[in-house]
Amino acid sequence: MKFSDFLKTYANHPIYQSPTGSALNARSWQTEAPLRMLLNNLNEEVAENPDELVVYGGTGQAARDRGSLERIIKMLLDLDEDHSLLIQSGKPVGVVKTHPEAPRVLIANSNLVPEWANWEHFEALKARGLMMYGQMTAGSWIYIGSQGILQGTYETFAACGKTHFDGDLTGKLIVSGGLGGMGGAQPLAATMAGAVFLGADVDPKRIEKRLETRYIDKMTHSYEEARDWTLEAKDRGEKISVGLVGDIGDLLENLINDGIVPEVLTDQTSAHDPVHGYVPNTLTLDEAIRLRKDDPVKYKELSLKSMARHVGYMLELQRKGSKTFDYGNNLREFAKQGGEPNAFDFKGFVPEYIRPLFCEGKGPFRWAALSGDPEDIFTTDQALIEAFPENTHLINWLTQAKEKIAFQGLPCRICWLGMGEREKAGLIFNDLVREGKLKAPVVIGRDHLDCGSVASPYRETEGMLDGTDAVSDWPLLNLMSNTAGGATWVSFHHGGGVGMGYSQHAGMVVLVDGTERAERCIQRVLYNDPAMGIFRHHDAGYKDATKVGERFDLLI
Ligand code: NAD
Repeated sequence: MKFSDFLKTYANHPIYQSPTGSALNARSWQTEAPLRMLLNNLNEEVAENPDELVVYGGTGQAARDRGSLERIIKMLLDLDEDHSLLIQSGKPVGVVKTHPEAPRVLIANSNLVPEWANWEHFEALKARGLMMYGQMTAGSWIYIGSQGILQGTYETFAACGKTHFDGDLTGKLIVSGGLGGMGGAQPLAATMAGAVFLGADVDPKRIEKRLETRYIDKMTHSYEEARDWTLEAKDRGEKISVGLVGDIGDLLENLINDGIVPEVLTDQTSAHDPVHGYVPNTLTLDEAIRLRKDDPVKYKELSLKSMARHVGYMLELQRKGSKTFDYGNNLREFAKQGGEPNAFDFKGFVPEYIRPLFCEGKGPFRWAALSGDPEDIFTTDQALIEAFPENTHLINWLTQAKEKIAFQGLPCRICWLGMGEREKAGLIFNDLVREGKLKAPVVIGRDHLDCGSVASPYRETEGMLDGTDAVSDWPLLNLMSNTAGGATWVSFHHGGGVGMGYSQHAGMVVLVDGTERAERCIQRVLYNDPAMGIFRHHDAGYKDATKVGERFDLLI
């Protein structure tokens, strides 16, 4: 197919879609895979705003601008296996000589020297077309829609239930804000974990999208209606999720006035970006969109104040008994800047619930079927159920996921796997491709939120035992290990999840195409990647990580 025809068919802005099937458009699966995943990131079923090339997480983009995107597509169509494409903040900037087992794409997004690492400097560069915000998996082309975060959110709510409610969330109310790309996973994760969910989002379109994809059960503009639906469900022990159009602070204020104390309270508004993410309670959505452009300084002031009010209500509910935690959006820091001195009186979700999993090298393992055929994912689901018969938690997840998750874009799956398990799963998938049991190759990747790939002191590395929360040597070592090990594309980003200045993190995706080359790469990458989590946590003094390290003979 001619390049212009390819663009018309698959990248006719703003309508993007990945090619499917087993025929190649690029010269090999090593370049076809990043091409398909890039286009999939921008598919309207997957991306929050394809018109602006925004995938999720406020302003997280897949490419810097339309011109850059079209040039990336052209280069991926032409690239051979002895070269690798360099992407700098969403723009292709060069091709280097490498070899068939090297990554085909090397990506660096949103990185700034620490002294300049703030939103103001970033925005000034962005306004001149010199940078883009890559979030975590937007600019590294392995975002898979809300399912990506669903498993992590389910794990978190389930762990919260285990810690505080004897593992039973029946009749318990979870309240949260933000039902966007990531936050939209909360209602389904909550009901899958057995709870009732009530969430607020100022943008009705975001809630409508969750209704369409069956991530939420009901939507209303009326607080009273939302309250009554959730209280009735609580009484009956029914699992339902409700989306209320409105400001989350207003919702919490109303709950407090009505004497309703949710058992669990958190938040996933895009607070990490006080100007282009969070919407202050004093503005309507339209006013917010205008003020962002006209007076960003004034906007930020209102936003910080609104976050302080919002966190003030969270603290009040925490005092009344809600199990309250920060869900990785840097809300506490900006609320503190906005005038709430006690914002850090509740902890982040990683130290509360996720770190024990990180100590086992566990993290969000995800894969996508490049064929576009859902049957390929069901075949891999079944293969994992057979490969890990003792892991009832995993089997329960995979069984429910098959029933309840509507695919967005290319069919994909996520589950949390640890050291040893990821490599085993990758090799099984490679056999399935080689034996023709899958219709085309798959790619295996993960979120940058993983055990050994991120430094983020208000999230993944909050409260490390040895105080090394801000040390970012670890994600750099992770990037280098995955590059040396032969991932198919690798990335290093700044500011994902919590915003500019607050995090650095690495990503990887490895192609599973049934070849011996893939087998070698899988054996290295899917061993090294979780091993990084064990090295990191063992070094910080976590005894559980040391035990796992001894079991896998990893310690030196
Ligand atoms: P998003 O931009 O797609 O959605 C954010 C939503 O918040 C939007 O729908 C917006 O309308 C809504 N919102 C903004 N201000 C509001 C207010 N005052 N009241 C009610 N709703 C409001 O972002 P996302 O991808 O859903 O991510 C949400 C946040 O979670 C981001 O800060 C992101 O960095 C963070 N995040 C967390 C994790 C995690 O694992 N916990 C992972 C990725 C991202």
